[in-house]
Amino acid sequence: MKSAFTVDVEDGISIAMRDAFSVESPQTDRVVHLTEKILELLSRRGVKGTFFVLGVVAEEFPELVKRIASENHELGVHGYDHLQFFRMTRDEAFQELNSAKKRIEDISGKAVYGHRAPAFSITPETKWGLDVIAETGFEYDSSIMPISGIRYGWPGFSETICKIKTPEGYDLTEVPMSVVKLPGRKIPACGGGYLRLFPEWITKKAFDLIIKERPAIVYIHPYELDTERYPEYYFDELKKSGFLRRNKMKSMWINRKSVYPKLSSLLEKYEFEPLINIVRSRKPGEVIQI
Ligand SMILES: [Zn+2]
Repeated sequence: MKSAFTVDVEDGISIAMRDAFSVESPQTDRVVHLTEKILELLSRRGVKGTFFVLGVVAEEFPELVKRIASENHELGVHGYDHLQFFRMTRDEAFQELNSAKKRIEDISGKAVYGHRAPAFSITPETKWGLDVIAETGFEYDSSIMPISGIRYGWPGFSETICKIKTPEGYDLTEVPMSVVKLPGRKIPACGGGYLRLFPEWITKKAFDLIIKERPAIVYIHPYELDTERYPEYYFDELKKSGFLRRNKMKSMWINRKSVYPKLSSLLEKYEFEPLINIVRSRKPGEVIQI
């Protein structure tokens, strides 16, 4: 069973500045260096991944998009400006997705088939987003976390890749994020904070459980590999913020040094292929009406 190694290509610093401190700041080239680090790791392991790129990153660093394409990884879209669906109207969402898709296709010269929403923001409240994703021309979406979360999650959604009929009647394939069942709760063990915080043996155990039934969908962000001190303007804002915010931001740094070796070890142990290949090789199943 081959799994998918997916990367949400975004600049962690400018997003944190805007979303946590309401300060606009430029894209930093850390997103380039850190994504290149991931590309080099994938190349060493002979793995092709799927890179969901943010429109603003493609605009600022087109050479990065060209490199991802030239190394035969799959390119997808992670929105244009990293706006979660609950922050947009339907028209704004269409603009956000359409402009990012066009830009990434123009730069790479390749068609883009997949979409991942910022912060997994497709939920029962924003299910209209699935109409927009299909209308923009995506073949699949990979934005639903089938758990009950605080700001994201769609409890009860299929845990397996499925064909869906969107509320307005479009056809779309949904690739939900991988979860493992523990007594009392389900956790998304294959990415983000869970991948960073769990010891490697737990991540591998979760992986083994998932791939008995379906491909595992690994997801990471380049900034999770960033172990260098952020620019001073970030710390100036951090100092001004309240205790809870400061603690939350600090918690995002715990165990960052462990991420690269963990990814390296996962890439060595398991088999991966681009998400579009997994989507297209899947046997037809029932269509779920949303
Ligand atoms: Zn993101």
